[in-house]
Amino acid sequence: MSTQSSLFDTAPEPWEQDDQSERQIASVVFSTGPDRPFDYLVPDRLRNELEPGRRVVVPFGQGNRSVPGYCVQVETRPLGQRRLKEILRLIDQQRLLTPSMLRLAEWMADYYLSPLGQVLEGILPAGVRQRAGTREAVLLSADAEALAKLAELKVTPKQRDVLQYLSLHRGPFTAAQLAKGAGCAEGPIQALRKKGLLKAETRRIRTAQLEEPAVVREAILDMNHDQQAALDTILGALREQRHETILIHGVTGSGKTEVYMQAIDEVVRYGRQAIVLVPEISLTPQTKNRFRARFQRIAVLHSHLSDTERHWQWERIARGEIQVVVGARSAIFAPTPHLGLVILDEEHEGSFKQDTAPRYHARDVALRRAAEEGVPLILGSATPSLESWRRAQTGTARLVEMPRRVFDRPLPTVGTIDLRTEARSKYTRGSISRQLHQAMDQALNAEGQIILLLNRRGFATHIQCPACGLALRCPHCDLSLTHHREREIALCHFCDYQTPAPRECPECHFEGIRYSGQGTQKLEAEVRSRFPNVAILRMDTDTMQKPGSHEEALAKFRRGEVRILLGTQMIAKGLDFPNVTLVGVINADTALHLPDFRAAERTFQLVTQVAGRTGRGERGGRVLVQTFSPEHPAIQAAVRHDFNRFAKAELPIRQSVGYPPFGSMVRLIVRGPSFELAQLFVGQVAAALRADFARQGDGFRVLGPAPAPVGKLRGLFRFHIQLQSGDGAALRTTVRRVMAELKEPKDVQWTVDVDPLDML
Ligand code: ADP
Ligand code: ZN
Repeated sequence: MSTQSSLFDTAPEPWEQDDQSERQIASVVFSTGPDRPFDYLVPDRLRNELEPGRRVVVPFGQGNRSVPGYCVQVETRPLGQRRLKEILRLIDQQRLLTPSMLRLAEWMADYYLSPLGQVLEGILPAGVRQRAGTREAVLLSADAEALAKLAELKVTPKQRDVLQYLSLHRGPFTAAQLAKGAGCAEGPIQALRKKGLLKAETRRIRTAQLEEPAVVREAILDMNHDQQAALDTILGALREQRHETILIHGVTGSGKTEVYMQAIDEVVRYGRQAIVLVPEISLTPQTKNRFRARFQRIAVLHSHLSDTERHWQWERIARGEIQVVVGARSAIFAPTPHLGLVILDEEHEGSFKQDTAPRYHARDVALRRAAEEGVPLILGSATPSLESWRRAQTGTARLVEMPRRVFDRPLPTVGTIDLRTEARSKYTRGSISRQLHQAMDQALNAEGQIILLLNRRGFATHIQCPACGLALRCPHCDLSLTHHREREIALCHFCDYQTPAPRECPECHFEGIRYSGQGTQKLEAEVRSRFPNVAILRMDTDTMQKPGSHEEALAKFRRGEVRILLGTQMIAKGLDFPNVTLVGVINADTALHLPDFRAAERTFQLVTQVAGRTGRGERGGRVLVQTFSPEHPAIQAAVRHDFNRFAKAELPIRQSVGYPPFGSMVRLIVRGPSFELAQLFVGQVAAALRADFARQGDGFRVLGPAPAPVGKLRGLFRFHIQLQSGDGAALRTTVRRVMAELKEPKDVQWTVDVDPLDML
């Protein structure tokens, strides 16, 4: 680190001495600005306090602006001929990152080609960085000598009360707390301070007292044979205190969560902590309560926490007060002092990948962290990602199968409805086929509940003029606008651009402009007209904007107040409602034809997962999947709940073109307000990459540059390049080298996505 930074230090003047005395030198990185560490001299007063993982304020640049930074290394060595600026002060009372978290951050910076300062900023929640919910306060305690000769002191009775209080209670206290405790005003306290009988120090204190909700305890279940076998495998790794990745492939309802919880029991017995990652959408009250009912000290980290709450939880975790951390993606950075186990449930979920810089995948970070701290990593899913599946096949992860539901409950029967035949039938109107309608009737008559999945929001998904062919598009993004009837607007789902829904074509003024395609709003209207007396609830990002609305909606459904729940993929995940006897997939093909090599995998996952929402009680369940391509291998496999069949069909396709999991991938996106400038620059980037790869020989593939499938987003034109190689490390090194050489023109931005999930 230091060799690089020394290039930028000022050269010594000839009369300057070569300083050979041992000095402490700290490397500091910044969250913005140049992506490299800068060396600073540690002043003597900070010698014993400064350590890597703490934040500091340092003078920066020509004008010596005071800027905050992260100390990432402290070394003792002679200064030689270098001249260094001094660190001004420390920001936090303790370090924010342990050495192992720092190493994790360094790995992320390297792997995801992101500046270390940016990664650190991403690892630490904003509430922690801003020390939300705390303030600076003067804390008072009694001088020990004063207390010793309390009887002889010349003080007023009130002042004596204060000292007496301090001798009986462990402080320190703010003046206000002390006044309240001793039952006096603040006057006597200030007088004691003036006399030097009280010691004062300035510290940060909490402004609010926070508490966790109390819950009813729950007993441990007797496990069935498959569960016990899975648990034994995990316990084996735990007892040997070694890192191992264990992939639990368990069908929906096989009782994976119970296995996780009993494994955590063991970890808690060792006095260690467990981190459980679940997709944000699965952080339902049901999930939270299941964990809360089993463990005493648990922190649930969800996206609706305030900065203050997040800071509070973070500190409790760092102090080792928490046994189990349950949270979404970023909970992998929970500062547990003695990590014992990491679990990723629904490990195939795309939401584990962060879509802003640093674009990390929590599964890969978890793997790294678990390996680094020598603890097992459990990945669980009914539909494992092909990445994890491949690791199990090649022996870098251990596979545990849980092929049966608890109590041997049957998996639901899944049937397909061919929409091509339906489309030709004169009976079909709207998006619910005759067969599905009949099945819904039956389910309702038998007092069952129904889930309908349609993976598109809005009313009509495109608005087109039949006279001139004009389709309404977002002026900022190259995407169709979706009709939202509740507010009579046409809305862009990417940038939120909205305009009143037109009555006539804006181009040719034809009055019969058509709203076509189906969204959840339109489906809701159709279901209401078909089943007028049935309670229906729609769940999508439009109806679930208020915090807590998601939970409220699910509670209504659970209580049976709602008979039909319809919505987007939001309803496909992790819900466990015993009374759901029918699941209908309105159109399984919505994701199948996207220009994305994972389209088939996503379709398989979605259909399998939503099918898993039924048949969870004693009443069994049934699934009907409407599709235009019933013969597609992904749909065929989902219908049979057959992951192996899907993997067998899909893996050879991936292998033949070197897609993950057979090769690594990096995606570069260049965007800018000028089409020409962005295009020119992306061309330069591609040429530089091609030249560099050519020098290295075969084994690399450059696709593009090409306009991205979403060619314009939020007013910026987008181009992309896809890079593939069997040698991921070489690929990343090359990209880093080319990035350092090329300078993007003004107004053109580029982002690098390592292991991209989003190909649009
Ligand atoms: P998964 O996570 O695999 O989808 P869950 O852990 O949610 O499955 O289990 C499904 C249901 O079965 C839950 O209601 C759970 O309480 C119940 N269950 C799990 N294991 C057992 C068991 N050994 N005995 C009785 N019920 C169980
Ligand atoms: Zn838009």
